[in-house]
Amino acid sequence: MELPRIEPYKIKMVEPVLFSSREDRERWIREADYNLFNLKSEQVLIDVLTDSGTGAMSQKQWAEIMLGDESYAGATSYYKLKNAISELLGFPFFLPTHQGRAAENVLFQTLLGHDAPDQVIPGNSHFDTTKGHIEFRHAKPLDITIDEAFDTTLEHPFKGNLNLVKLEAALREYGPARIPLVLVTVTCNSSGGQPVSMANLRAVSDLCKKYGVRLFFDAARFAENAYFIKVREPGFADSTIREIVREMFSYADGFTMSAKKDGIVNIGGLLAFRDEDLFKKCCTFNIIYEGYITYGGLAGRDLGALSQGLYESTEFDYLQARVGQVEYLGKRLREFGIPVQWPIGGHAVFVDAKKFFPHIPQDEFPAQLLGVELYIEAGVRAVEIGMLLADRDPVTRQERYPALELLRLAIPRRVYNQQHMEYMAVALKNLWDRRESITRGFGIVSEAPIMRHFTVRLRRL
Ligand SMILES: *Cc1c(COP(=O)(O)O)cnc(C)c1O
Repeated sequence: MELPRIEPYKIKMVEPVLFSSREDRERWIREADYNLFNLKSEQVLIDVLTDSGTGAMSQKQWAEIMLGDESYAGATSYYKLKNAISELLGFPFFLPTHQGRAAENVLFQTLLGHDAPDQVIPGNSHFDTTKGHIEFRHAKPLDITIDEAFDTTLEHPFKGNLNLVKLEAALREYGPARIPLVLVTVTCNSSGGQPVSMANLRAVSDLCKKYGVRLFFDAARFAENAYFIKVREPGFADSTIREIVREMFSYADGFTMSAKKDGIVNIGGLLAFRDEDLFKKCCTFNIIYEGYITYGGLAGRDLGALSQGLYESTEFDYLQARVGQVEYLGKRLREFGIPVQWPIGGHAVFVDAKKFFPHIPQDEFPAQLLGVELYIEAGVRAVEIGMLLADRDPVTRQERYPALELLRLAIPRRVYNQQHMEYMAVALKNLWDRRESITRGFGIVSEAPIMRHFTVRLRRL
């Protein structure tokens, strides 16, 4: 018999969770105005709200926390990180920042200034903070993801790919004068952790070179992307993850990275460059917004833990267990007939709430309803990616109706085991079996003028 696969680590520090009753959870979620962000984490049994900054660090990462010296300038841990970025990713210049969005802020402030209404940034479904930084400066994010990405049922190995015809049309129309960079997000978070193929990265790079435009990666989940290339793209089965990572990054002129994902640290970000001039320009803003160029917004110890995290996340055994765990949950849900976005992405499973609750109108927030019911059923906290998140039109104040109404279960790295996946799958199956008895969603009691999902107060209809 073939032995089952196991995680390539064992557990030596644990964080207790508190069990609760359905009555407790009904009360807590009512007191939280049916907003899952308002729950205390101790009221949650399995927290799959996000995979950002929620991973478990290894003993070597914790050792780096002790070894890191806290120098303002030139800490040893800064040089460890510099070596890791040079060796693994192949970049000579970088800036540490306190988060991924801080790296975006420094980059876009340098390239766009405060007001750049004629600038266009093509990419594959820009992450929301990225979009925020672009639109805040009155520039335009241009989404040129392939059409296949928007059909949740379609089987396609690289739904994060860019449409090359649309990219070339944009490059021809706007040129380097109006396109400061093309931004490729690996894996593409907004479309569900879907990967970009090496062939697509190479072709995007060729087009960018042809038109003289910079190519940057939003590289939060670069290692998970490399894993998908290895297991899905012809020609890479025998390459190591690190070889794939090196080739991926060889096509980029720079990257932003939220280190809270594949860096497997609880806080941190990076901004890296090949071009020394751009690096020097960005240094100014990094010092103003983040901190001196050898620590960014971080402590020396954080830089050491991050450098170690980059080595660990680029190991095949780790990635196989990590992505395999997410896939296991997605496959279990599919076996139960529950509609999920397909194929399963690298970091999260997305349940299609419109198909789960077809009898509930979208303006009663079916994905939020599914999230609340899942919490009451089993103490699991997922997150709505639907109408609440889509928010109102900023000008007309009319509700926006997004095409997809999803509940996202984002799995933290190295935190939960297979039994937790099984538990969540069964909890969702129980809801699926009695979905017709759940007949009404929510109405809004009060909401903030922008980013309402974080603070919205809801009532049951
Ligand atoms: C998380 C994330 C960011 C923002 O990073 P923070 O560390 O949360 O500021 C940017 N891009 C992508 C793709 C992300 O997943």
